[in-house]
Amino acid sequence: MTTTRRLFILAAAAGGTAIATGARAQARLDEKDPQAVALGYVADASRADAKKYAKYAPGQNCTSCALYQGKAGDAAGNCPLYAGRQVSAKGWCSAWAKKA
Ligand code: SF4
Repeated sequence: MTTTRRLFILAAAAGGTAIATGARAQARLDEKDPQAVALGYVADASRADAKKYAKYAPGQNCTSCALYQGKAGDAAGNCPLYAGRQVSAKGWCSAWAKKA
């Protein structure tokens, strides 16, 4: 086996591991998840049920919520209310609290 071929195989194996790890880390919260339904979570805040949740105001989303743990620019991040799954940066739920 040539060194180039060996390096290619090692790189491919490492890449595969990274993809598998990434897939686990990126498990998104399903809007149909019972906890999500209970709190009116939507992956796109513009679809928030403003009639049911009068506190919703346009412009609110997970990135502007005090509970959101994603970094600026991330498409999704963790939220302590939905352990083990990530919420969309553009998402919203009725537990939204203004970031200080
Ligand atoms: Fe998004 Fe905040 Fe609701 Fe978590 S609590 S899903 S960060 S709006």
